Amino acid sequence: MDKEVTFTEDLDSSNIRIKQFDRARRHLADLKQGLIEFLCHPKRSICVSFPIEVEDGSIRTFQGFRVLHNNSLGPGKGGIRYHPDLDLSEVVGLAFLMTWKCALMNLPYGGAKGGVVCNPKELSEVDLRHITRRFISELGDNIGPYTDIPAPDMYTDEKTMSWIYDTYDIMHPGRNNRPVVTGKPISLGGSFGRHEATARGVLNATEHFLNKSPLNGLDDLDGATVVIQGYGNVGSIAAHLFRQAGAKIIAISDSQGGVYKKAGLDLIALDQHKQEQNTVVGLLDTTSVSNNDLLTLECDILIPAAIGNQINQNNVEQIKARVIVEAANGPITPIADDTLLAKGIPVIPDILANAGGVIVSYFEWMQNLENEQWTYDEVNEKLRRKMDKAVEIVLDCHKTLIANQDDDKAVDLRTAALVVAIRRIADVTLSRGIWP
Ligand code: NAD
Repeated sequence: MDKEVTFTEDLDSSNIRIKQFDRARRHLADLKQGLIEFLCHPKRSICVSFPIEVEDGSIRTFQGFRVLHNNSLGPGKGGIRYHPDLDLSEVVGLAFLMTWKCALMNLPYGGAKGGVVCNPKELSEVDLRHITRRFISELGDNIGPYTDIPAPDMYTDEKTMSWIYDTYDIMHPGRNNRPVVTGKPISLGGSFGRHEATARGVLNATEHFLNKSPLNGLDDLDGATVVIQGYGNVGSIAAHLFRQAGAKIIAISDSQGGVYKKAGLDLIALDQHKQEQNTVVGLLDTTSVSNNDLLTLECDILIPAAIGNQINQNNVEQIKARVIVEAANGPITPIADDTLLAKGIPVIPDILANAGGVIVSYFEWMQNLENEQWTYDEVNEKLRRKMDKAVEIVLDCHKTLIANQDDDKAVDLRTAALVVAIRRIADVTLSRGIWP
């Protein structure tokens, strides 16, 4: 288990998003002040509390949130997370990210996020089903195929999405309700490729970034050493995809700690161990590392794929990776961003790197609206094209920002990605006209 650490920097999720936004504003001087103010606030935040009779017979109260940050480009889109530490500020911050992510990827969606404060590890499947159904019924018509469309996030999966669909469908009989939620099982209108879409997008973004912007001889994944924090949906699938692309996965962790092997981990043995022991820790022939030590290992590519604020003031100086790819949402704090920029370690930001999930969610939504089923190869090819295009747009914007600077302050890729996204939303907001 990791040691307890103390922080002097502000780790509040919403405040961090505002800080990142403020950095991008410096390059958007022509935007009206009022428009900036509008984009800093969520459009709608819903907080609900509800009782559930859990399997041991006791009655427990659960709290849930759904935040719609912006819907200028279209209905809200964003995951539903189940986590004991969830709070409204975190959900607001994650909804902000979804707004920028959808805009950057040119998807017809605004940003949203939601979740329930609960610990899925301590609840039975029946409890989780009851919590999901009650939460969705409490949200009522605040979600819907053309209003706000949930998806999976931490500790929610295809099963959770099936319950969401079923609950909504019972509440709205007699119409095609499949597009109300994405990340469903294939049998219920899910898309081929959705399950691994986020990890595949991480792979696409990394490969295209290295191809367009090589790092001192590192221009592809062949032989590249990779460290991954988190072995859930995104981290575990990314490990396999990067391995298949020729990389060597030297360390991996989950919430209980990590394992390291310089010669490269055996992922088949790791999967079996994780299935049997419920953790990666203790895999034969590996050295145990704490989550913090794992982040500071020497490697070519570091992929945080777990929770937020993992690379921060306390450990950023020790980071030795050559590039960081943010598979998780918000794994790097603003102070750490500054230090990484000064150290010359590029970061492929979350709104670009992990957008594969929402892109294939969009494909699922389109297929559901038209009652179509695209093939696996079709989905992956369309995803790759969208990821490649976004990487190129961000790199171009980055170059332009550097060329147009009137001071010599460095600019990171996160700022470039945000400038593209904010500019798109601002343009659409103004061309729609401020109501009334
Ligand atoms: P998941 O619940 O499947 O897996 C999370 C993993 O993180 C688990 O291995 C867990 O053990 C580990 N973890 C939890 N707390 C940790 C800690 N303190 N230290 C180290 N590891 C810890 O979640 P996921 O769907 O893989 O999502 C992971 C991240 O990717 C999240 O930040 C999520 O918001 C982001 N993301 C997910 C998707 C998606 O489609 N699933 C899309 C975009 C972004």
